[in-house]
Amino acid sequence: MDDNDLRLDGNAAAGPLAEIFGREMTMAAAVCGGCGTDAPIGSLMAYDPGLGIILRCSTCDTAILRVSRVRSGYWVDVRGASALRISTAE
Ligand SMILES: [Zn+2]
Repeated sequence: MDDNDLRLDGNAAAGPLAEIFGREMTMAAAVCGGCGTDAPIGSLMAYDPGLGIILRCSTCDTAILRVSRVRSGYWVDVRGASALRISTAE
């Protein structure tokens, strides 16, 4: 098994992100802190190594978001993102 076996797309994180943010997040934009690429979360490369979901920039491979489920909720590591842009338009 290699990284390709673990690769999903950003939509794999739709359920946990909706639970955390209280809204559908795959169309929200994440700006990569590594290269500045601005892309919908649903288009990011996602990996699930078993400890949670890692969303990576498809341009430079920076880990933009890491989401881990713990007993009391979630840990969300966003240090790879310089911004998240969440539309409130319906
Ligand atoms: Zn990047």
